[in-house]
Amino acid sequence: MTAAFGATDPMPVLFIGHGSPMNAIEENEFVQGFREVGAALPHPKAVLCVSAHWETRGTWVTAMEHPRTIHDFGGFPEELYEQQYPAPGSPELAMQTADLVKNTNIGLDQKWGLDHGAWSVIKHLFPKADVPVIELSIDHFQTPQYHIELARELTVLRSKGVLILGSGNMVHNLRLVAWDKLNEAGFAYDWATEASEKMKQFILEGDLNSLARYRSQGRAFELAIPTAEHFIPLLYALALREEKEPVSLFNDSALAGSLTMTSVKIGMN
Ligand code: ZN
Repeated sequence: MTAAFGATDPMPVLFIGHGSPMNAIEENEFVQGFREVGAALPHPKAVLCVSAHWETRGTWVTAMEHPRTIHDFGGFPEELYEQQYPAPGSPELAMQTADLVKNTNIGLDQKWGLDHGAWSVIKHLFPKADVPVIELSIDHFQTPQYHIELARELTVLRSKGVLILGSGNMVHNLRLVAWDKLNEAGFAYDWATEASEKMKQFILEGDLNSLARYRSQGRAFELAIPTAEHFIPLLYALALREEKEPVSLFNDSALAGSLTMTSVKIGMN
């Protein structure tokens, strides 16, 4: 271990509902929420982000010195494609992460970078782009239990000044988005409200097992989580919570019927 990642008090852990890529450039209540949390954080030595938008076979970490800003979306204004978030990478943290995980082999990736699940949010947390960022991919072919166990192996990084951030959306069904209700604040379908309320209850009660069994939680969960990639980052964040650590919500609103922006802070007030 080098001095760069020496012992610190455990860093908080976040799950952030990232929503539309437009949050990278728009001014709204959610972006304000990101900024407020960013300002309240102890300054981290690095960020490790588990983003819904990097699914792979096997588990990988970005290990390049300078991750590129990936514009992994279509049909948005030119201004969004011009955005760059030039945070450095951290090959050192990537190697350290691969070394400390014993349950699986973590590959060192040189091709990915920062997808919008990472940069559109992290730019509000750390606008100066002065905190190194690495991403950990989501192995599409693994079980919730795999992700939870892998997350727990990352616990030690919290005490080395690393902010671990899951970026997704708890309720995320793009097929059912009510495009005509985009501007109606807080609009949610009944099933989205039901799933969201249940998820929040599980989170605040520390019931990670019930969340990991999301496929057995009935129709509302099936509609809320049609595919797992936006939900899995939540499991990573919650798996890192130590017993009795404070857990609270922010940006707790629905959007366009079938999305929630609800986000979670662990280990901070
Ligand atoms: Zn997304």
